[in-house]
Amino acid sequence: MARYACGICGLHYTDKALAAKCHMWCAIHNSCRFDIARQSVEAVAQREGS
Ligand SMILES: [Zn+2]
Repeated sequence: MARYACGICGLHYTDKALAAKCHMWCAIHNSCRFDIARQSVEAVAQREGS
């Protein structure tokens, strides 16, 4: 499965568009937006407890 990383915060996404959105937000705000970050591979894995 393809993973797309946000080059700024380092979170990974399975959706390229989401990674781009995260990157854009991080570049402007220098922090992650929760409703984007929660869809990251890391956040999903944490929710699933794996
Ligand atoms: Zn980011």
